[in-house]
Amino acid sequence: MAELLTDKTAVVTGAASGNGRQISLAFACHGADVVVADIQPEPREGGTPTHEKIASETDTTADATYVECDVTNTDDLEEAVEAAEEFGGVEVMVNNAGIFRDEDFLDVTEDEYDQLMDINAKGVFFGAQAAAKRMVERDRGGSIINISSVAGLEGSGEYPTYCTSKGAVRLLTYSLASALGPNNIRVNGIHPGIIETTMTSEDVPIVGAELGEQFLETVPLRRNGQPEDVADAAVLLASDLASYVTAISFVVDGGMTNTQ
Ligand code: NAP
Repeated sequence: MAELLTDKTAVVTGAASGNGRQISLAFACHGADVVVADIQPEPREGGTPTHEKIASETDTTADATYVECDVTNTDDLEEAVEAAEEFGGVEVMVNNAGIFRDEDFLDVTEDEYDQLMDINAKGVFFGAQAAAKRMVERDRGGSIINISSVAGLEGSGEYPTYCTSKGAVRLLTYSLASALGPNNIRVNGIHPGIIETTMTSEDVPIVGAELGEQFLETVPLRRNGQPEDVADAAVLLASDLASYVTAISFVVDGGMTNTQ
């Protein structure tokens, strides 16, 4: 397999588990060094911590380190980006950390709203800012990838705060693509559909539940997404193959959104 990210350095938030873990592993398989940034290193789904798996199991020379990083804390985000200096400095930033819950709009409390928005929207804003500062200083360009959702393209009565946060990420992505384009920093969004992670099996049980079966009937490809599907999109956007691609919403949903 051709390596698409040789000699690049990436920071991935929420990289202990799920999509962030698979993005990190795929980046390493393509030759990138990875800073695995998360509140704790153990994968929610079990298994070897991401940074250890990269060091022990990938065939490439890619290296990885773990940094404790709560994306609601701007100092933590700065430290995660700083950790990339060990590998030559951040060139790819993936703002992936996020939480999901279903809710009744009339019952949502201010604390619940703040928690979700702090992680899903503010964390992306300041993660992008921390990385962009370094990228501008170094003047080598870069790629920032923000993980939104199909919930950032359409509203849902069952997930109003989540949709608010993911819609914010979509417009943040376009805004930063405009602001940072002259520095050759590309900023793109990935909008996954239903991906099989602990988020969709435990936090909001969709996969394997009746609701999930109903969703599947609306997916032209008739399967749920896997973290590998999201990771492949991230590899492409991080790589030089996408050197003229910025300000896009890359929808990875088996065709669900555009065929409703
Ligand atoms: P996941 O399996 O729950 O993984 C999320 C990771 O983020 C976990 O390791 C979690 O740590 C970490 N995290 C939570 N709060 C954090 C914080 N404040 N700072 C840093 N890390 C934090 O979820 P996922 O399915 O991979 O989701 C990853 C991203 O994809 C999210 O932005 C999500 O909204 C998006 N997405 C997912 C789907 C889907 O169907 N799965 C669909 C669309 C979009 P802990 O283990 O300690 O909680």
